[in-house]
Formats: sequence, C-alpha cells, structure tokens
Amino acid sequence: ISVSREQAATENAMLRLEARKRMFSAEYGEQRRARLSLPSWTQRQKIIDTIASNRVVVLTGETGCGKTTQVPQYLLEEAEALGFGAEVHIIVTQPRRIAAISVAERVAWERGEPLGKSVGYVIRLEDMPPRRHGSILYCTTGILLRRLQKADGLAGVSHVIVDEVHERELDTDFLLVVVRELLNVHPYLHVVIMSATLDASIFTRYFGGCPHVNIPGMIHPVQVYYLEDLPQLMGQFFPPATRQRKLGCSDEEDIDFELAAAVISWIAQYFAKGAGAILCFLPGWDMIAMLRDRLSKTPASKGMAIMALHSQLSAGEQRGAFTHPPGGMRKVVLATNIAETSVTIDDVVYVVDCGKIKHRQFDPSRNMTTMRVQVTTQINNALVGSQKWTSQASARQRQGRAGRVQAGFCFRLYTRDVHARMLEHQIPEMQRVPLEELCLQIKAIAAPNVSSQVAEAASPGSNMSQLKGTMAVNTGMNDIAMFLSKALQPPKGTSVFAAVKVLRQLGAIDQYENLTPLGRTLAKLAVHPRFGKMLIYGTLLGCLDPLLTIAAAACFKDPFVVPISKRDEADKMRENFAINSAYASDHLVLVSAFEQWKKANLAGQGHSFCERHFLAPMTMKLIAGMRYQFEKTITEARVFDTWVTSDLEARTHVARCILTAGLYPNIAKSELCRESKGMKNATQHAYRWRLGFCVQNGRVFIHPTSVVNEKHLDPNKHYYLIYQEKVQTSQIYLRGCTLLPPLALVLLGWNVSISSDSGAAISGDWMLLEVEGW
Ligand code: ADP
Ligand code: MG
Repeated sequence: ISVSREQAATENAMLRLEARKRMFSAEYGEQRRARLSLPSWTQRQKIIDTIASNRVVVLTGETGCGKTTQVPQYLLEEAEALGFGAEVHIIVTQPRRIAAISVAERVAWERGEPLGKSVGYVIRLEDMPPRRHGSILYCTTGILLRRLQKADGLAGVSHVIVDEVHERELDTDFLLVVVRELLNVHPYLHVVIMSATLDASIFTRYFGGCPHVNIPGMIHPVQVYYLEDLPQLMGQFFPPATRQRKLGCSDEEDIDFELAAAVISWIAQYFAKGAGAILCFLPGWDMIAMLRDRLSKTPASKGMAIMALHSQLSAGEQRGAFTHPPGGMRKVVLATNIAETSVTIDDVVYVVDCGKIKHRQFDPSRNMTTMRVQVTTQINNALVGSQKWTSQASARQRQGRAGRVQAGFCFRLYTRDVHARMLEHQIPEMQRVPLEELCLQIKAIAAPNVSSQVAEAASPGSNMSQLKGTMAVNTGMNDIAMFLSKALQPPKGTSVFAAVKVLRQLGAIDQYENLTPLGRTLAKLAVHPRFGKMLIYGTLLGCLDPLLTIAAAACFKDPFVVPISKRDEADKMRENFAINSAYASDHLVLVSAFEQWKKANLAGQGHSFCERHFLAPMTMKLIAGMRYQFEKTITEARVFDTWVTSDLEARTHVARCILTAGLYPNIAKSELCRESKGMKNATQHAYRWRLGFCVQNGRVFIHPTSVVNEKHLDPNKHYYLIYQEKVQTSQIYLRGCTLLPPLALVLLGWNVSISSDSGAAISGDWMLLEVEGW
C-alpha cells in the first residue's frame, strides 16, 4: 500500500475531525437509526472478524439486510477506529450502473458526506470516484474488469467485494475466475463474495471451502396470489377483456397492461392509504413507459405518485423512487428487475409481478454485456425483444420485496401452472450468451501489455507475470478455453470455439490466439468487437457518423414497421430512402432514414415523419440514444484524436492512413532523448532532455529538409511518424516524413505486417508495446 506514514497520520486526524463534526450534525440521529435497525448490524463484529482472518468470505442475506451499503462501511470504520483508515480501499462491484450510483449516494449520506470524498462510484461514461485514502468505491463489474487489464489495476486496493453473485451475470462469473487467480498474486487482498440467495455452497466450494457468514433477516410474511385468484378477489375491477381471454398466458404472449393497470389501481383503492408503496416488476423500460401511460388514464391515478426505476434513468431521475410522496399520495414504482435485489425501496408492501424478464437485450445504458447479446441475436436473426418468464428463484425474490416493513402482498399476473413450469434458476449467462466480447476481455487481461512489461522489468515476478503464468499465455495453447474451464459453470466448448473463430476473423487475435493491436483497441471499447471494428475504421477513415447509425440500428428491431394492409406503400417509402440503386444497401437506407428523421424531429415533427414513412418512433429514439452511447464510448477510449470536421481534413486524414498502409513498417516514434550539452569531461556531464525520434534500433534524426521539426512538437506528448527512406551519413536521417494518428499505425500497419516476413511481425510487436502510450 503506497501511503506514506505522515500522509496516513494527517488523513486519520482529518477523519477524526470529520467524525466529530458529524456526531453533532442534525442528521446524525437519522443516519444512525437507519443503520442500527438493519439485520446486518447484529452480525457486524462477526463479519469484520471473519473477513479480517480469511482471504475469501462468502456473505449471504436477504435483500435489504444491509450487505451492499453496510459491510464496506463496517470494514472502513473498523480500520478508521484502529487508526489505519487511510490504508483501506474497498472496491464493490455491482452488475448495474444505476445500482452503483444509488448505493454510493446512500452510503455517502449515511457517512454524512457528499459523494466523492470517502465514497464514490465509477460507471461507464460517468464517474465520481472517492478522492482520498481510505475509501469505498462502487463500480460496475465491467469497470473493474477493464481496470484489471492494467498490471497495476489493484494497486492500493485492500478489499474487493463482488456483489450480487447469485445473478450469475456474465461479467460477475468472469470476475470470479480472475479474482480467484489474483488471490495468489496479491497476498494482502481480501475478497468478499455477496449473494442474496441463501444457498451459498456453490460459491464456498468454488473458493476452496471458504467461510460463509449468513445474516439472518427479519422478513415478514407475504401473501401470494396468482392470476386465477384475481377475478374473485377484484370482482368488478377485474378487466373484462382479460376475463374473456383464456387464463394462463402462453409463453410468447405480451404483458397484459390492462390487467396490470387494473390490479395497481385496485390495490390503491382497496387497501388503506399510507399503508405502503406498490412495486410493479416489468421487463424493460419501454414496458414501463407503456404501463405508465395506461395507468395515467385510470381515475385512481390521481392519488398516485408514479415513479419509474430502470437503468435508463439519470441519477437525479431515479431518486424519485426512494422518496416519500407528499400528502398521502400512493407511491407506485414501476421497475425492471433492478429492484429485485440490487436496490431497496424502503416502504413497499405490495408487489405486482408480471413474471417476465427481457432476455438480455436492449437497454443501451447498461454496460457492454447488453450489447453483446443484442448484436448477436440480431446477426443471427433470432428474436430481438423477446420476453421470457423469470425463474422461480427470482419470483421468490420479487415476492420478498413486499415483506420488508410489514406483512405484505404479492400479486402474480400469471397462473400457478406457469409458475410450476418456470425454471428453478436462470441458466448462468455464461452458458447462454455469445462469448466474443468475453473472450476478448480474457485475452486483454491475460496478455502482456506495456504497463505489465514495465512493471515486470522493475520487479521481476510481479503480479501480472505470475497471473500470465497461471493462464499460460503465449504458449500457443488454447488459453481462452483453458481460462473459461475454470469458471463456476463453464460454457460449452463449442460456443468458446465459435467466439474465438469470430475474433480471429475480425483480426482481433492472430492464429496463435495472441491479441493483435486491433484486438487490444477493441478490448478498450465497451461494445461488441464487430461494432467496435466498424467504429474504429469509421473514425480512422473519417466517416464515423453513418457507421454510428448503422451500429446503433443493429442493436434494435428494424425501425420500419410494415402494416400488412399497406405493404406496398410501406415498401415504396423504404425504397425512397435508398440513395443509389446500383449499390443498394439496407444499411445506408437506415442511415438516410435516420438523418431525415433527425431533422424532422428537431423541427418537432418527429412523430408525423415516422407515421408518414412507416417508422417506429420509439425505435428511432432508441437508435439516437444508442448512437450517442457509441459516440461517447469512442471518445472515452480516446480513439477520437482522429476526429475530422471538414471534407478536406477528412481527405488528408485518409491519405495519411493510406500512407501508413503503404510505408509500414517504416515507423519512428518520439521519445525524450538525452543529449549532451556543451563540453564533456570525465567529472562533469551536462545533459539535456529533448524530444527526438527513434526507430526500433535507436535514435534517428529528421532530415533538415523535412517540415516535421522536433522543436515544434510538444515534449509531453507521444508522436509517431512514417518515413519513406532512411539515409545514413554521420547520423541516420529520415526523409519523407509524415506524422500520424497512432490508431492508423496500429490498425493499418498491423494488417500489412501479418502477411509480411518475420521482421515486420517483430515490428508489429514493437508497436504493440507502444500503443499503450496514447
Ligand atoms: P442488501 O445489499 O443486503 O440488499 P442494502 O445494503 O442495499 O441491502 O440496503 C440496506 C438498507 O438500506 C435497505 O433495507 C434500505 O432500508 C436502506 N437503503 C438502501 N438504499 C437506500 C436508498 N437509496 N434510500 C433509502 N434507503 C435505502
Ligand atoms: Mg445489495
């Protein structure tokens, strides 16, 4: 841990001061009461002790018992009390962005601080990390995985807490494999695995029989009703349309919004006001929007404060679900399964469960895993937007949400028969989704990158080299499959093989499964590698904009809706968007439809435009949202240094890239070079540092006729240039030089080197080391 003694002492003194201030604040009592009433409080000492004396601990407890918000605080407070608070840095991973934010906010409030002091969060495209030693960081699982691509990703981290492992989400399962390996190389790291499912044996076994602490919960009884009970229960409130339909929806059937709205307004009227909030589970945020719409048309909605909770919301918008509405209004929260275990709404007494989940698809602001699924479903022409029944396990979790404050009620909008047919547990994601992105991440974590090589040179046998050893990287073995065989429930060999094949075809890995520079760049982008490649080449070749639309559109259903009665008319409309029939392209039709819709939408005519052109307004909006996400992803990965604004710029930019393709591997990179200054004698050396250029075997000089001049370059930046020839006089001079965006070098350069001789391939590796720098 890299905190100096004085620094730690100062930090601790400040902590004590803050604690004192807090004790005398007005909110202190409220904060304290909230924390002391939680079941986890009774187990506080046991939790602290078990974690202190074991490398890995599995912790279980009913949702809402205080695992996520309290356990990290116990660890930090204990260390603070003992005077080494500044040396504790806890990372807690969450599968969902919105949960990371809401939990971090809550914990900061309980500690009487603003976010970003000792408590913070980092999610993709948004961060508010803690800014002092001794801290708790909530982040999405994907963020931690990305961080582990760097050798020093865990520098200073004392505890890694992997939360919500029962969800068996792809990234979480992946992280467990990595964490288990890392335990061998970080002797002081402590790991806590947290799960809402009480049966933890699968996790304790995975970690070699590690200890298991269970937090006994206080959960009130919940009365469960099924669809067939509702007609009698609700009487005239039961919608006649539903009555006429055969009870027991088929698997494909959509949600019965009318029924859901009826049940909610019936509860609101039938049960006394002030008797608690209603929580309704729906598969996705579009469904939430539809039910909200429906609900607002019922007379009962006047007394309701309808809130939504899904990952599309901003941090500010989601707060509504946690507040208490004024004046005896009935709080109704429409939520996706984020409310199942990740976040707790305090005052829920009634749960309305539609019983469906969206099968891992569109939800653009979720992290990369979502897109991974969408992409492939789309590419394979499988159903997109399919809903599936939840598992019995999650139905039970949802039901439990009603019994937090008092005895509650759960209304299942499906029959007992459907419930009996549901899977007991969801199949772990690793066994049912395509694995390209995961395999790429595995390579990025296992393969050497520049920082790990530097770290290794500094201290041989350092973490990454050992980790690499355990993963048998670069041996030509199928290390991806080997890595995945260590997972909790490994995926099928055939799906691993299929994913590796795709990565190879994309050029993300070579025939020995080594990561190529393209692969390394793709691993930084949180999108499916297919789209990643499109976006990178789009950026590189100065035509990112249409590719953003194409990639975004591929994540959703076709925005063209074709009513059977107006088929010809609709087809005609679609054809009208085609730009050039000689090179007809369904992709470019989408681009031009989107462009025109965007203009119409800006003028407030979006809806009528869609109607006229047979487009689904919702899908167009989703595409716009996804485009924005992709754009931000590209910015975040810093591929943007090649962004061009004008046509001329684009053309010269493309010319640079083509030069790279042609002249590769004639590359020089900038480096700070030491040059002697003035007289040199045996006792006194005078040196100065200045920007110079190097090729693989050493220092070179730019020919004086060149317009590239080191003097005009910023010594704090990295530069790459491609040269036409090397001339040796008294020194080695480069003639015909062009400065390049590094990305061009990495991608176009590599493509050339694959097919060239071994010399060039070595140059490729040399570049591979360097790209880390930009
Ligand atoms: P667990 O992780 O065990 O499911 P949490 O630590 O998330 O439980 O939550 C513990 C308790 O903290 C909840 O039961 C709830 O009372 C309270 N809580 C958590 N987040 C919030 C919030 N955003 N607003 C109000 N109360 C909250
Ligand atoms: Mg939790």
